[in-house]
Amino acid sequence: MEKKKKKVRALGICSGGLDSMLSGMVLKSQGVEVEWITLVTPFFFADKAQNASQITGISLMIQDITLDYLEMLKDPPCGYGRYMNPCLDCHSLMFRIAGRVMKEKGFDFLFSGEVLGQRPMSQSRPSLRYVEKHSEFDGYIVRPLSAKKLPETLPEKMGLVDRSQLLDISGRSRKLQMELAKSFNITEYPAPAGGCLLTDAGYSRRLKDLFDHQHSHEIREFHLLKYGRHMRLDPETKIIVGRTQKDNENILSHYDPKSDILMNPCIPGPVLLIPHGGSGGVVLKAASICAGYIKISGDAPVGIVVSSPAGKRSIDVKPVHPAEIRHLLI
Ligand code: SF4
Repeated sequence: MEKKKKKVRALGICSGGLDSMLSGMVLKSQGVEVEWITLVTPFFFADKAQNASQITGISLMIQDITLDYLEMLKDPPCGYGRYMNPCLDCHSLMFRIAGRVMKEKGFDFLFSGEVLGQRPMSQSRPSLRYVEKHSEFDGYIVRPLSAKKLPETLPEKMGLVDRSQLLDISGRSRKLQMELAKSFNITEYPAPAGGCLLTDAGYSRRLKDLFDHQHSHEIREFHLLKYGRHMRLDPETKIIVGRTQKDNENILSHYDPKSDILMNPCIPGPVLLIPHGGSGGVVLKAASICAGYIKISGDAPVGIVVSSPAGKRSIDVKPVHPAEIRHLLI
């Protein structure tokens, strides 16, 4: 009896964008069994990849890599991009982690939707090479959309993938990808880029401030950077003031009563959080700032309920007008 040929299995890193989807479909169409992994942190999430998985029918694993990611993010060997985005080291880390899953679960190689030259910094030839070299899986990363423009990989040399059926796309135009999408009947896909908070100017400013002022960090602090107005009162103290009801709810969901100070006005208004607390003078100043964001006219004292690890008390403070403390905004 003829021995059944072993199925070739490939594990792709999926961001959820069109290029990710196409890379999976290109391999799938030549008979490779493909699966995806998407990696999540407080800075990027699985929603787009989940959507891509639903559209293409390619199954998806989700892995939280926050601890490994933070370690790298504090001091990425290749530095940051325009904001706090360490794209090259981010990609190497993702491949390193995906590579471990590949070995554990018996996949034959890794793949991604990267396109040579599509992003000038992170997808140039040297950048793709850097990522591969520092991934610990040099030679095992196939980029199906640009494969013919890149050196032959081990899976191609070993005959696990047919190089002749891979593509030679490069550059910033997405015309070829859109045609390819049609041929795979993919009509729904997200706009390119977006979705990573490390490429957001405001988030990056607050993140840098956090790194500049604290040596150790709790994961919740990276979530808190997404919500409200952040102000630095002194090198040890930062306050976060909700802008909307949603902000208030999100801030409260990351409040730690064992270490933080939380302020709630006695009348409807924003919540104010001091992560890790603060001293007496700072607390009074923060309470006045909190009062200043309440939508009332005049500057009559306002009651603010202050909850700290020591207990709860109410204080009356005069509001500080937001214009007077604009310079404190991070
Ligand atoms: S944009 Fe964000 S998720 Fe994408 S490579 Fe850069 S740092 Fe990583």
